[in-house]
Amino acid sequence: MGMLTLVPHNVHDITVDGHRMLVHVPSSSLFEMDAVSAAVLDLFRREDRVSAEDLRRDLGGRHALEELADCVESLTRLDILRDAAVLESPPVIQAVEDIPLSTIVLNVNTGCNLSCTYCYKEDLTTPAKGLRMGFETARQSVDLLFTQAAARDRVNVVFFGGEPLTNLPLIKQVVAYAGDKAKAEGKTVDFSLTTNATLLTEEIVDWLDAHAFALTVSMDGPKALHDLNRRTIGGQGSYDVVVDKVRMLLGRYRSRPIGARVTLTRGVTDVAAIHKHLRDELGFYEVGFGPVTSGPMTSFNLPEDDLLQVFSAMKDLGEVYVEAAIAGRNIGFSNMHQLLTDIARGTRKAVPCGAGLGMLAVDGEGDLHLCHRFVGSDQPTYGSVSGGIDVARLGAFIETAQDRTGRDCATCRIRSFCAGGCYHESYARSGDPHAPVAHYCDLMRDWVDFGVSAYTRITRANPSFLRHHVEPRSHAS
Ligand code: SF4
Ligand code: SF4
Repeated sequence: MGMLTLVPHNVHDITVDGHRMLVHVPSSSLFEMDAVSAAVLDLFRREDRVSAEDLRRDLGGRHALEELADCVESLTRLDILRDAAVLESPPVIQAVEDIPLSTIVLNVNTGCNLSCTYCYKEDLTTPAKGLRMGFETARQSVDLLFTQAAARDRVNVVFFGGEPLTNLPLIKQVVAYAGDKAKAEGKTVDFSLTTNATLLTEEIVDWLDAHAFALTVSMDGPKALHDLNRRTIGGQGSYDVVVDKVRMLLGRYRSRPIGARVTLTRGVTDVAAIHKHLRDELGFYEVGFGPVTSGPMTSFNLPEDDLLQVFSAMKDLGEVYVEAAIAGRNIGFSNMHQLLTDIARGTRKAVPCGAGLGMLAVDGEGDLHLCHRFVGSDQPTYGSVSGGIDVARLGAFIETAQDRTGRDCATCRIRSFCAGGCYHESYARSGDPHAPVAHYCDLMRDWVDFGVSAYTRITRANPSFLRHHVEPRSHAS
């Protein structure tokens, strides 16, 4: 062995209940360190450069030389150790020459019958004034999806708004059209919809159920919290209407479990109480939390203290999740579920999400956007459903997203999980969709460490939980 050095941004280690876990950063893989690997890693942390002679002198008295050599070889293969003379290679940027879609998001009406104070939609208006998508645009969108998904067996059509149920006639037409097309092409088509629940009737619920829609309800918790921001156009809290509709929905929907999506904002940070209400009292299958991304940021942004409090509360609920998981129960906390799924998969993200790659969103005029959140923003569009995808422009966007040179992400220990964070979050914060989400990078790193610890504890105490509750859904998605 020549002179070797540590590549610090490729390794992270976390001690869980006395066990040292090594995280191989490029692949998000987890290994339990034995005494030899722990000693070797510690030596390379102490010394800038280490030779075979240094290794023998420092560790040869405690560990067999052959074991030390094997360990060094394994760590070198993982690019955790490297020849000290070798410089960091430039990042490998995958050229984007095709957009193999699996999902199309149809913005069926920019209008919404609620007027939530924190709504990030720059084009939001009332249902009557909203830009409604017509069937021709929707048909072309579905055709584009099927063309771009030629190699896939399964495709997804997502209905978004505003409130998508304000354009139910179009949704019904699209479901019939896409269903027929899927049958003719031997594919399966899934439908999903996020709703504020206010327009649901028994008849609508039964129709959605018959087509096995994946439903998510936007709801912020008990009345006092929900009504702070989720208000009608007239300014009244919407909880009383929503809770009746949700009870009706959860009482008769059979085809799929239904989740709630909570927006955390100033004053709406009591994660445990919100989860308890939505999951235990109302009966949602799972509850997911996201901090607000809104236009008038200063009014609704979580100040740093609140953000700290929220992540701490997320970890408290995460502890409840771990205890329940060890006892074989799933408490339906989607953020934890997603984190464990990413860890179980050994996620290696080159870009933060499928926006612009596996997924595009269509506005009412047929123009293509990175994702639903960019519809109505002043960001560029990427072609149209009638003229096709502007692959050159979209490719350039995705290629820029892959190149994190000069940004903190290039050496961040959670880059394979995060890859720079949500483009829309960055755009809303700084105007640049490629900027790191710097305001919570430290918190995200802490959250991923928490996930590694949770994953390790569950794997040790009840590995069957991960097989039954985490891996099945990760395969499905
Ligand atoms: S956005 Fe922040 S947390 Fe995410 S990879 Fe970049 S530096 Fe790391
Ligand atoms: S850019 Fe953000 S909001 Fe859009 S799909 Fe990606 S993670 Fe979601």
